[in-house]
Amino acid sequence: MIERYIRDVPDFPKKGILFKDITPLLQSPEGFRETIDLLARVVEPKSYDLICGIESRGFIFGCALANRLNKGFVPIRKPGKLPWKTASESYELEYGKDSIEIHLDACKPGQKVLLIDDLLATGGTMEAATKLVRKIGGTPIACAFVVELTFLAGRKKLEGMPIHSLVKVG
Ligand code: AMP
Repeated sequence: MIERYIRDVPDFPKKGILFKDITPLLQSPEGFRETIDLLARVVEPKSYDLICGIESRGFIFGCALANRLNKGFVPIRKPGKLPWKTASESYELEYGKDSIEIHLDACKPGQKVLLIDDLLATGGTMEAATKLVRKIGGTPIACAFVVELTFLAGRKKLEGMPIHSLVKVG
């Protein structure tokens, strides 16, 4: 029952957004452990080689899961943060555009990648992340989220990719 650790914050970061705050979940040893236990079970760990997490809350869950399962971890970051050669992908936001980056040598050709973020909203961020992994020669095999806002239909953007979420908010 990890839902009880997720706090709703109305009008953050701007009016009309109901922000799903996962900090109470991280603060609870039981809640955080249960979340990682659940993420470890949604996709068979033998079916992937690496875990890729999206800045910044995707790092928290992705790193904990990678450490638990003895997998490597790859960060996908906001522009200008990664020090080595990068590939970049842009995506649409509600207003304007954003982009994310990955190191060119972050996966070996054909390595299978599980992508992790804290929350699926419109799916734009994760769609760009799966494209980035493909750009550098990796194979995204599934995406996993702690929370999914089902009313935003982010899954549609990720069609063809297995999507797993622990808490669905409709
Ligand atoms: P999207 O690209 O629309 O699927 O947005 C996903 C990204 O935005 C994730 O990295 C989330 O952390 C963040 N995000 C979007 N909406 C919310 C929300 N209501 N509460 C918390 N995080 C959100």
